[in-house]
Order: sequence, then C-alpha cells, then structure tokens
Amino acid sequence: MALVRWRAMAIRFQCSSCSQPIEIDDVWSSKLVACPYCQNTVTAPEASTLADLSATPTARQIVDDSTDGAQAPMRQSRLGLVALVIAGVSLVMMITFTTIARAHIDQFTEIQNKQMKLIEQGSDIFTASQASMADLMKSGPGGTIPTWFVMTMLLTMCSGLAWLVAITCALIALRNPTSRKQAYMAIGLCSVTLITFCMSG
Ligand SMILES: [Zn+2]
Repeated sequence: MALVRWRAMAIRFQCSSCSQPIEIDDVWSSKLVACPYCQNTVTAPEASTLADLSATPTARQIVDDSTDGAQAPMRQSRLGLVALVIAGVSLVMMITFTTIARAHIDQFTEIQNKQMKLIEQGSDIFTASQASMADLMKSGPGGTIPTWFVMTMLLTMCSGLAWLVAITCALIALRNPTSRKQAYMAIGLCSVTLITFCMSG
C-alpha cells in the first residue's frame, strides 16, 4: 500500500551559523538553504533536531528543486576571486614601481631635494614641481620626461586604483561564506602592497 503524504513534513533545526531556530519543508533535508535570520547558507539536517516551535520562520529555498534528490548547488560568489586577482595585479604593479624607483633612486632624491630647496626659498609646491619637471625633461631623451619617471607615475596611480577596487570587492565578498576565504587572501595581499609602498618611500 502506497503511503500518501498529505502535507510536506517540516524539519526544524538550529542554524549552524547564528543558532536561531529555523524550519524547512522536508524536501529540503540534507540540502543547502538560506537562513532567514543571518542570510547565511546552511545545510539542513535529514530530520528535525529541534522540537516543534509554532513561531519558527521558514528558511527561504535557494534553488528550485528541479533535480530531485540531487544536492542543490551552493550559490558561488566570484567576488572574492575578483578581489584576489585585482589585489595581485595591484601588488605586482607596486613591486615593479619600487624596482624602477630603486634603480633611479639618485634622480628621485635629486628631484625631491630640488623641490625642497625651492619651497624653502619661498616657492609654492606647484612651482617647485614645475621647476623639477623642467629639470627632469632636460635629462630625458629629446627634451621629454624620461620613460622611467612616466612609468613610476603610471604604476603608482594604477596600483592605487586597483588597490581600492580590490579592498572594496574583498570587504563585500566577506559577507558571503563561499567567497570569504578568497576575500581574506585579497585583504592579505592588499596589506603586503601597502607595506611595500610605505617601505619604498
Ligand atoms: Zn542563521
């Protein structure tokens, strides 16, 4: 005799993330569901682990149960990976910048000294920068600013921009458990970039 189930049974359990009691339809047993309290993705148990609670909110299902019996795929967030890649790009640019800057440390010091001297003599930062730029152009091929200097300016600017994008993506990605690990790695890389930058000055 076939058993007719009139109504889907409910599974009650405690959210493994925020410990709130939640309830799901038993077709979601052993599957991934979104907790209505903390919005985190948690795996539902096979059977209830909590007693009947009348006022238990129902967990929102993540995907349509079209593939019956199959494990519902976890919503993957790629933002952590994006943050990690951009953080890596930012770090590579920063390392390239310090390498170029170190190779031209004498010229760099010269520019800085010249600027400081002009400022001491009473010119403003803008005029001082212009004067040192003019000096720099004299040193470059054909009266232009040397390539290495343009490169360092571009690298610091792009690295800084990438750094900001990476840290923003990482902070957003931290909210999703599927991308949290990559987000932490991206933040780690950003810290290395920052340390590299501070040490270059
Ligand atoms: Zn929860």
